[in-house]
Amino acid sequence: EVAAALATYRGPARTRDGHAVAVLANVQDGAGAQAAAAAHAEGVGLLRTELAFLGRAEEPTVDEQAQGYAAVFEAFPGQKVVLRTLDAGSDKPLAFATPPDEANPALGVRGLRIARRDPGLLTRQLDAVAQAARATGSTPWVMAPMVATVAEAADFAAAVRERGLVPGVMVEVPSVAVLADRFLEHLDFLSIGTNDLSQYTLAADRLSADLADLTDPWQPALLALVAATAAAGQRAGKPVGVCGEAAADPALACVLVGLGITSLSCAASSVSGVGAKLATVDLATCRRAAEVALAAADPAEAREAVRAVLAG
Ligand code: PEP
Ligand code: MG
Repeated sequence: EVAAALATYRGPARTRDGHAVAVLANVQDGAGAQAAAAAHAEGVGLLRTELAFLGRAEEPTVDEQAQGYAAVFEAFPGQKVVLRTLDAGSDKPLAFATPPDEANPALGVRGLRIARRDPGLLTRQLDAVAQAARATGSTPWVMAPMVATVAEAADFAAAVRERGLVPGVMVEVPSVAVLADRFLEHLDFLSIGTNDLSQYTLAADRLSADLADLTDPWQPALLALVAATAAAGQRAGKPVGVCGEAAADPALACVLVGLGITSLSCAASSVSGVGAKLATVDLATCRRAAEVALAAADPAEAREAVRAVLAG
């Protein structure tokens, strides 16, 4: 059934009973966005802006940044594009933004925290996004990575709204999931980055092969934080997406939909697999899958229990 749906997948994604779930792509530039559109992604759920600048010694100018962002917006006219402000630091150091010699860079000045040392870097990037939005007639959603407090989210949201853009933040630090209702008072959406949320929830380096069992996205503690965040989104009537690796696993995508997640964003190569799988299940089955995954003792038990539910 999935194989047949895969061959014919054209989007937009729906469950078998017609519940819409946007299946979006994670991209880093205009070429990637074109490839994602060709793969039938409904938009971009995560534009990783730092990846285009990894080898650069100097900050790109506002005009250069605006051109790069416009190329992504143009690939999805009238569709959703979620741009993430620079997530430099830790596993993605940028020469012009990352402080050297931090003892513990994953817990250091990375993501939005860079704006504490250099606020101009963030405001120039937001100016570039606004310029690209005007040039292309798009209204991008803009989110910050590595947010930890409601005050950080409120300040970021004000700067984004000032420019006519739509503000959100990533849920990567457990504090955001814990206080999701209060964050949503200031924001229009949340997007859960399961790669970092698992790293910080299980206190295990996401790059460590020795600890991969702890950063497994099927860990019940991670799923509980996703559930809490999705529930807060439903109370506020605001979208909550998932843009980490978890969204690329078709069975786990069903669990996420059952938890109340409204969009999934994954590599372009995974879009049709996720969309095709969703087309074979009802929302009620996704909810049942979410229940058994949350109740499982560990990732192996969660996978097995969900497999049984999805097999009917
Ligand atoms: C994440 O942390 O899950 C995420 C999507 O961001 P990145 O992988 O770029 O850190
Ligand atoms: Mg991250």
